[in-house]
Amino acid sequence: MTKSIPHYVEASNECTLFEQAFKNKLPLLLKGPTGCGKTRFVSHMAARLGLPLYTVSCHDDLTAADLTGRYLLKGGDTVWTDGPLTRAVREGGICYLDEVVEARKDVTVVLHPLTDDRRVLPLDRTGEELVAPDNFMLVVSYNPGYQNVMKSLKPSTRQRFLGVEFDFPELELETKIIAGESGLEEDRVRPLVRLANKLREMKGQDLEEGVSTRLIVYCASLIKAGMTVDAAVLHAMIEPLTDEPDVKEGLLEVVRVTF
Ligand code: ADP
Repeated sequence: MTKSIPHYVEASNECTLFEQAFKNKLPLLLKGPTGCGKTRFVSHMAARLGLPLYTVSCHDDLTAADLTGRYLLKGGDTVWTDGPLTRAVREGGICYLDEVVEARKDVTVVLHPLTDDRRVLPLDRTGEELVAPDNFMLVVSYNPGYQNVMKSLKPSTRQRFLGVEFDFPELELETKIIAGESGLEEDRVRPLVRLANKLREMKGQDLEEGVSTRLIVYCASLIKAGMTVDAAVLHAMIEPLTDEPDVKEGLLEVVRVTF
């Protein structure tokens, strides 16, 4: 039985670029705000190419050993256990490191030899040096919008990757995506996307991040399930954005003038 391919609506030529990167054994960097489709894109491409996908959500405690593996105690013995990156290199597949800039600095040390033409993963602890097979691909993502200088990728790391920039799709395309995801008719989705675009204009002034495509999908799904538009907008598109009463009032004002 073939596994179904996660639905992904292409915005530009990113699917072809991904295929080219895979064929040419080049690593890929996806940049863009949270909730705009990066993870969905990678799972879609992995399924299309018939490759296993190892996804790691990076966080500030994530170390190189979390990716490569470690010795674990098992029934009195210490047994080496591969981490997700090592498994992808040993068995072939895509390793996707989501929000890679969050990870500890030692992670870049294991990524460098994998992202140049050697394509090797040295495992100091086991003494192995694994050569990545042709069907191994490394994909990383990050959100440049956070503007955290401490947490941007160093040129020596980023210049090892091909890059694709993701952004929220234009009105009609985003409407189609959300209608497809939620089952709500396009004519009822469109005003939600218009509202989201208005709220996105406030990014940088009062908001760190604009409304993601993911949140509009939540909102449309709630409406489809019978919730009133006002309540769905409040819970899916306002509350998740801010804790500040003044900012929330400003957002609600945008809702009042837009709807
Ligand atoms: P990111 O990884 O950028 O944070 P996700 O890939 O998790 O975001 O996207 C969030 C949700 O938005 C997805 O689960 C999907 O419902 C929807 N989505 C966003 N962009 C697309 C797209 N181009 N095609 C299909 N669904 C999309």
